[in-house]
Amino acid sequence: MKIWIFVVLLLVAVPFIASAQLYPYHETETSVLYYLENTQENRSFWFVYSENNDRWGVDWDKERLPFKKVMIHHTGGEMDQLPEEMEEVSKMKYIARYASDDNDPYVKGLEPQSSHVINGKETFLPYHFLIYQNGEIINCLSPLTYQNNTWYIDNVAWHAGNWIFNCESLSIGLVGNFESDYPSDEQLKSLKKLISSLRKYNPNLEVFPHRTLEGKTSKYPIWGKYL
Ligand SMILES: [Zn+2]
Repeated sequence: MKIWIFVVLLLVAVPFIASAQLYPYHETETSVLYYLENTQENRSFWFVYSENNDRWGVDWDKERLPFKKVMIHHTGGEMDQLPEEMEEVSKMKYIARYASDDNDPYVKGLEPQSSHVINGKETFLPYHFLIYQNGEIINCLSPLTYQNNTWYIDNVAWHAGNWIFNCESLSIGLVGNFESDYPSDEQLKSLKKLISSLRKYNPNLEVFPHRTLEGKTSKYPIWGKYL
């Protein structure tokens, strides 16, 4: 009798255990359907489950395109501003996007995520590289990935205010405010060195300062006129 009950319990329980393993976060999995319904169809593949964060989210890097362009920015702050300080500002862009009704894809109310994890920590920085006044180059995001015999952008950074441009370009931030000042010789020397090393991955690389998108397609009014 006892064995019989045990068998029944097992028969009832096994499908639950199996489905629990398949869908360990059933509630979140159901709620992602709501986002898919509100998202343009062609973007639905962006939704991925992140084991690390225990939640669904959008993998923005899935939009990556072949490496075509480099965009040069000024960071717009102090010469010695730390990446962590810049990150505070760029995280606000993510927060604004995740609060908007934009349906390409629809992410309103989800927890803002960049999909960029460097040294085990999520980063919201919009620069693949930073160059300081003394010429020091800091690599902040993973720049390139080799797929199907082609170099693609690896971490798609939110830097140009133009999504297609973001997906096909690396972003280099010269640290400082070049609305009022010029970059240092060391900064320019390092910039040239960095760009020539990037040309190895695409000899026909196009290089732009951010201000070339001013008034055309970029959303952000930070240009650095002396850049
Ligand atoms: Zn810029």
